[in-house]
Amino acid sequence: RAKESGRGRICTFTADMNRNVVERMRLLSRARLAFDRQAFTLHYQPQVATSDGRVRGFEALIRWTDSELGPVSPDRFIPVCEDSGLIVPLGLWVLETACIEAVGLACRGAGGVTMSVNMSAVQLAQHDFVPRVLEILSRTGLPPHRLELEITESQMIGSLDAAIGKLNALRQAGIHIALDDFGTGYSSLTYLRTLPINTLKLDKAFIDDVHRRPDARSMVSSISRIAHDLSRSVVAEGVEEAAQWEALSLMGCDLIQGYFVSRPLPADRIDAFLTAWEERRPGLPVIRHDVV
Ligand code: C2E
Ligand code: MG
Ligand code: MG
Ligand code: MG
Repeated sequence: RAKESGRGRICTFTADMNRNVVERMRLLSRARLAFDRQAFTLHYQPQVATSDGRVRGFEALIRWTDSELGPVSPDRFIPVCEDSGLIVPLGLWVLETACIEAVGLACRGAGGVTMSVNMSAVQLAQHDFVPRVLEILSRTGLPPHRLELEITESQMIGSLDAAIGKLNALRQAGIHIALDDFGTGYSSLTYLRTLPINTLKLDKAFIDDVHRRPDARSMVSSISRIAHDLSRSVVAEGVEEAAQWEALSLMGCDLIQGYFVSRPLPADRIDAFLTAWEERRPGLPVIRHDVV
């Protein structure tokens, strides 16, 4: 009897595994089709300086609504694209599209803003990653210092030396590097010191309670201080409320990104956002001394 139920469990487990494999294969074949049909788009989320409330840059975030699957979150399809290698051409498309958008923004008056682009470790591991990035910059005409590449440290486990070499080459070319999702997974202060990064992006998990809980506040202000001592700037991700902005700006966070400023926007809504933000911005930041 025990053997029977044991066998039953194994069967269920196998069936679940198969379902998972089938689902991922379907996702991958739809993603390949979407790539061929140019069905992916980018949205852009503003990053705003706490010092003066001005827009300093945008992060490009990939979007996909499939005709059969509906909207698919990047958290679901990026891992599948990484496992299959589709991320390599897809990532180059993202980079080129975002660079073109940044050049366009400059022509329309938002000259100094930076464009942040998420990079997968699979892309970084390509032997020709650095020349490909430089080639896209020269083809699109975006000055290197206006591009920021976002990487996560969990992705670099195992190939750290190679990754550092490439990041150094990109830095040498003038490109900025940001460490994304800091505070989740494998995060370690050692990475903050050893990786050649310009910017530290504090994960939303740190930010959620920052206006409510003293312990969350001590974490953020201590990490910010360390980052600043190491000449890294600090971006807070997932800021949704004015009270978080106020707390973060008092704690020395340099940039704010989140729904409080704006959701990620389709390219054709950036100009309207910039105009509307200029109207909304002057009241910010409201320093409320009871918050910290
Ligand atoms: P990420 O790079 O950490 O991006 C931040 C995520 O938080 C985005 O989710 C963004 O839409 C979301 N977000 C921003 N502000 C708020 C807020 O105030 N509240 C909440 N609840 N969420 C907020 P998204 O666009 O679904 O992307 C998820 C992840 O997928 C990204 O995390 C990134 O790791 C990956 N990703 C997105 N686009 C690309 C891409 O072009 N290439 C690669 N390799 N990865 C990408
Ligand atoms: Mg990111
Ligand atoms: Mg992040
Ligand atoms: Mg993330």
